[in-house]
Amino acid sequence: MARDAIPTPDPRQLRLARGALERIRRRRLREFEAMMVTGFSRTCPVCGYVGEFAPVGEPPRLDGLCPLCRSRERHRLFKLWIERRGAITTDMAVLHFAPEPVFEPILRALAGTYVTADFLRTKVDLKLNIEALELDDAGFDLIVAHQILEHVDHVKALGECFRVLKPGGRLVVTTPVIEAWATTYVNPAITTARERVLHFGQKDHSRYFGRDLKDHMRAAGFVLHEFVSVEPDVSTYALMRGETLYELTRPAGRPIPQKKTRKG
Ligand SMILES: [Zn+2]
Repeated sequence: MARDAIPTPDPRQLRLARGALERIRRRRLREFEAMMVTGFSRTCPVCGYVGEFAPVGEPPRLDGLCPLCRSRERHRLFKLWIERRGAITTDMAVLHFAPEPVFEPILRALAGTYVTADFLRTKVDLKLNIEALELDDAGFDLIVAHQILEHVDHVKALGECFRVLKPGGRLVVTTPVIEAWATTYVNPAITTARERVLHFGQKDHSRYFGRDLKDHMRAAGFVLHEFVSVEPDVSTYALMRGETLYELTRPAGRPIPQKKTRKG
């Protein structure tokens, strides 16, 4: 690989930069404090709260948090999906991974069968590894898996979800994606929690998806629909612009794709 021509600053410039760094940090802190209160009235589609929202996250996302039900942007996007596309009915079986507490009563009321699952948490119905589900084929109409794929081998997870969905069933997924990246960033040299924060944005993330995630979803056999946050929903419900909820349908009548190899 060709070397980048990166100049070497002289010591005086470096001293100036360190002084500037401190001044900029103090100014930004004051600006952040002022921005914490935006004064905008937002509506929470999850709990119905109308009024000012709170900042959330690191760095803080303005108006990201509903102060009543604690929903974040992706939760509100998911609630809009439930309302507009979910069509969840009492004859359906729903499997919810890493269930967000705010959605348990909502989904339990809509679905005939509602099952919660997690690999680590104990207060769920089933302890399941999404990469190797100990479940029968074609048992569920809807699987909900928010913020899971970036933690696991997503190809295995997508294949397993396809298998346990009924034909015509759907998997709903949110996960961080960098649309401008053609390929997903994985790096076997990154092994510590601190390195994972720098490279993948969180200490327990193992990859950062590029837009090829969608190819991987289709390769697993799914038909993909993207439910994207747009205006006026973004300003009304305090959503992240362009955040995408991936709705993956197992087509009726399509068999489970044959695995090329199976380790372990
Ligand atoms: Zn709320």
